[in-house]
Amino acid sequence: MLGVLSALMNDGAFDFSAYPHRHLLGIEGLSPVAISLLLDRADSFVELNRRHDNKLATLSGRTVMNLFFEDSTRTRTSFELAGKRLSADVINMSVSTSSIKKGETVVDTAMTLNAMHPDVLVVRHNDAGAVKLLAEKVNCAVINAGDGRHEHPTQALLDALTIRRRKGKIQGLQVAICGDILHSRVARSNIHLLNAMGARVRVIAPKTLIPAGIERLGVEVFHEMGAGLKDCDIVMMLRLQTERMKGNFFPSVREYFHFFGLDYAKLENAKPDALIMHPGPMNRGVEIASDVADDIGRSAIREQVEMGVAVRMACLEVLCANLSAEGSSQ
Ligand code: ASP
Repeated sequence: MLGVLSALMNDGAFDFSAYPHRHLLGIEGLSPVAISLLLDRADSFVELNRRHDNKLATLSGRTVMNLFFEDSTRTRTSFELAGKRLSADVINMSVSTSSIKKGETVVDTAMTLNAMHPDVLVVRHNDAGAVKLLAEKVNCAVINAGDGRHEHPTQALLDALTIRRRKGKIQGLQVAICGDILHSRVARSNIHLLNAMGARVRVIAPKTLIPAGIERLGVEVFHEMGAGLKDCDIVMMLRLQTERMKGNFFPSVREYFHFFGLDYAKLENAKPDALIMHPGPMNRGVEIASDVADDIGRSAIREQVEMGVAVRMACLEVLCANLSAEGSSQ
């Protein structure tokens, strides 16, 4: 009950100045203090979200626009719900209904939306860097909901919140990120966040699915699941992102599952209480066996989705609070 009450308003318990940024474009460059603020604030919303009367007036009068140039189910819905839980007006635009189809550029579209005075634009785009470009042109806050293979910051934050709630900490944990690292913005954002918060990160994948020089991000590289999963606390599986693949990266799905799909035999190498995670959407029988994905005791996959709403509420709230602070100091 206390947790819920403290979530009803920011009664000074959360120092939003710990996040001194107008946008959330990526995890790279965020301080551990800024990351912790978002996680702590998100954590305060979790109990509230489980109640029936779970609406707060915090963002009443604010407008959030979801602008998705690439398909999404959970991320878009999650941002929509997060905005609505905080009483913001939320508008969804997908590429199929936008004037991009009629030849307008990304920047033109952003400028058009900007003229309608949104407070926050939540943008997903298939090109790395497109969201940053757009953020430079508008005068509202921008949240990157995934840009190409670059970053997906709210996914890394919700993964971190899930880990922290299950394991009580992030610092010192051994995390394995497995699968299509090459095309994954989830992997990149998670590597930045986990390193910033003191975890040790390994990536496990066939050579063809590891980007050159990934060690420079502070990870250990493995090409074999047995050795890579040895004594890990967290096993994070990734989808094969075939929509980003040009050419052949593995011989067949069957062979990929045999060597890199997570099943109980491979999981034996990790710690007995290792947590299984996946950002979704999952390809059962490709990167993860169905029984492992559905293992109630060990899989946190559903919890990740739940944490997504709390994390996005925190991000929307903190960015809007910063906009208010900017306004009052002008
Ligand atoms: N949903 C995640 C993303 O947008 C992961 C995936 O699509 O595989 O990057």
